[in-house]
Amino acid sequence: MAEVQVAQVLLQELQGDEKGADVVVADQSKVMHTYARQDLQLTRGSGAHVWDVQGSRYLDFTSGIAVCGLGHCHPRLIAAAEEQLHSLWHMSNLYLTAPQALLAERLTEASQMDRVFFCNSGAEANEAAIKLARKYTKAAFGAHKGEILTFHHSFHGRTLATLTATAQPKYQEGFGPLPGGFRYVEAFTPEAVREAVSARTCAIMIEPIQGEGGVRPVAPDFLQWLRDFCDEMGLLLIFDEVQTGAGRTGEWLAWHSFGVKPDIVTMAKALGGGLPIGATLASEEVAAAFSPGAHGSTFGGNPVVARVALEVLEIVRAPGFLENVRRRGQQLGNGLCTVAATVPDVVDVRGQGLMWGVQLARPDAGRVVDECRKRGLLVLTAGADTVRLLPPLIISAAEIDTALALLGEAIKAVATGAQNA
Ligand SMILES: *Cc1c(COP(=O)(O)O)cnc(C)c1O
Repeated sequence: MAEVQVAQVLLQELQGDEKGADVVVADQSKVMHTYARQDLQLTRGSGAHVWDVQGSRYLDFTSGIAVCGLGHCHPRLIAAAEEQLHSLWHMSNLYLTAPQALLAERLTEASQMDRVFFCNSGAEANEAAIKLARKYTKAAFGAHKGEILTFHHSFHGRTLATLTATAQPKYQEGFGPLPGGFRYVEAFTPEAVREAVSARTCAIMIEPIQGEGGVRPVAPDFLQWLRDFCDEMGLLLIFDEVQTGAGRTGEWLAWHSFGVKPDIVTMAKALGGGLPIGATLASEEVAAAFSPGAHGSTFGGNPVVARVALEVLEIVRAPGFLENVRRRGQQLGNGLCTVAATVPDVVDVRGQGLMWGVQLARPDAGRVVDECRKRGLLVLTAGADTVRLLPPLIISAAEIDTALALLGEAIKAVATGAQNA
């Protein structure tokens, strides 16, 4: 108890009288500058709202980048975490724990896959997918196999392999030499895939809806073509559902809405409701390529996180939940089209479920984010010209209406500012 109080006193001192000034100093002088942070210090959250250090409330249409799918501090997730915190926090994957085993059972069932490997993030889930695809195809088709095709505008993570899989030069600059074994497909067309594929290719990795790259849904027809092409050529199809998974698109996984089944699918972000978890799911045949020692993770499948993820699964898969996500998604999509018709400079509205992008004629997305924040609404960008909306899946109809009104005002303000500039 004494230590808890010491930590609380330290935190209170840091957040002190000047309303968080010391936190800003500590952050700016001691944390590496990998983030272009906004001037906003958050102290608590509840449902679809967060509060800053001055006590102002914000409507959160970011969900911490698609992570807090059930909103902030969901009482059932708190109860699940708390229960597990009092029994066992961590051991190691050399022993069995019930939360991990139960999560494996429920998650594979919900995802219509056979087996799962647990890790702690999206990049790690994709690393595991890359390793698994190579191990399987080398054994099945020969040691020359190993190259993976990914698509322009993709985002697969920040580790060296997933950074190389990410076909966007801006993320790769200055980090060479990059590992080999990746080739980029320049368009979502059969011709572009045929041009990139070689005898060494072992898998094709794709986000069914590209997230960071601009909220770009990939046509289901093309994904079906990819499935057939992979079958014909002996390639594995990997879906990166790190952002689209766990209910975001109105289905547990995006591919459930168009029925093209991958050999491997990766998840992370919303799966732990705000706690770190990653999962690589595969068919029985492919998963069999991993034997003891082939891969591992110290924290992967941690009992506290697994227990919370189990609760996330229960809630998202309860009758009516995903149906409501689809309804709210339609409301948001329709509302964005109405906004687009009434404000200048919106060139496209794209998305599915509760994942939407509003593309502007100019690279002004960051300024729209700022104008939204001033009005009490938090939104994201996806590239310089696209505003991205990822509200929690528990968002209400009234909250969506509020956000639409604020977003419309913000876009107008930026457009007016640009005219006057
Ligand atoms: C966020 C994201 C990742 C990386 O996840 P991290 O948890 O940040 O490592 C990978 N793929 C997609 C599609 C993502 O949206």
